[in-house]
Amino acid sequence: MLAGKIVTIGEILVEIMATTTGNGFLEPQPLVGPFPSGAPAIFIDQVGKLGHPAAIVSAVGDDDFGTLNLERLRRDGVDVSAVAVHAGAATGSAFVRYRPDGGRSFVYNMRDSAAGRIAATPEAEAVLAEAGHLHIMGSGLPVPAVADMILKTLPGLKARGGTVSFDPNIRRETLRDGSKAVFHTVLAATDLFLPSGEELSLFSNETDEDKAVAGVLATGVKEIVLKRGAGGASHFSREGRTDMSGFAVTEIDPTGAGDCFGATFLVARRLGKPVAEALRYANAAGAHTVTVQGPMEGSADFAELDHFMAQAGSP
Ligand code: ATP
Ligand code: MG
Repeated sequence: MLAGKIVTIGEILVEIMATTTGNGFLEPQPLVGPFPSGAPAIFIDQVGKLGHPAAIVSAVGDDDFGTLNLERLRRDGVDVSAVAVHAGAATGSAFVRYRPDGGRSFVYNMRDSAAGRIAATPEAEAVLAEAGHLHIMGSGLPVPAVADMILKTLPGLKARGGTVSFDPNIRRETLRDGSKAVFHTVLAATDLFLPSGEELSLFSNETDEDKAVAGVLATGVKEIVLKRGAGGASHFSREGRTDMSGFAVTEIDPTGAGDCFGATFLVARRLGKPVAEALRYANAAGAHTVTVQGPMEGSADFAELDHFMAQAGSP
């Protein structure tokens, strides 16, 4: 295994879901939750589950929502020493309801929650100073303190041989001009790029897949893994491409699939597994996640993934 912890920076939230489909939250309705959540938290929980050293820089409130998240991350082996607990602040939350057309309505409490107060504490700096790999989640980049910490960490990390992965986790409509420069700086430092769908062309405005891939590889990115939902994923590098179809499962809750997928691909590669094997494990992790309600409830260790793949058969 490559040396050093995998570290990520970003929001820890609880997710509360409507149990019925419909248009948003304009009337009283049955809900289920709270579930531990937040894209960076789901990612790092899966890293911990796979037995790889892991840490997250984040912030929660001193409330049950914060405790529930910290207990889960600790249980799954994640170092939470750099998660600040803010007295008097509420832990971030996301209420989600599926619309009849398959889309989702959200009510977020992020900016005014503890998740909006992530800062470069001494504990955060200590964790970042010993990181072997930094995973950057694009959804956190518009938060100035998060972007600052990432930009300050990158030069030292790269100089000591550390590596970087980047999941843009953002759609074109939400990529504001102000954060574009940060996205480009991050991409220039990225070893493993993990877009899904149209995120591949966010930086080049090149809609042809092969041309967009060539453009990203030309910036120095070593590996691209394009996530294709139920369709599986494709891996691109200067050596060529590898396509892997998804496992056939009944989707209960798609949230968290991309995060568990990315964590599993990264850990498998750090363990020295070849691309095709890492892709298969990652597809299994994504597919396993969508069969369980709750974004972090479907995270799985290698034994569970082996069992899942044995049951599911090919690919
Ligand atoms: P997220 O909603 O977490 O941001 P994403 O858009 O980043 O997700 P997806 O492409 O939706 O990523 O899913 C990641 C991976 O999970 C896929 O590449 C695939 O391996 C697996 N996956 C997702 N949905 C399904 C499904 N319905 N059936 C089988 N596998 C799935
Ligand atoms: Mg995603």
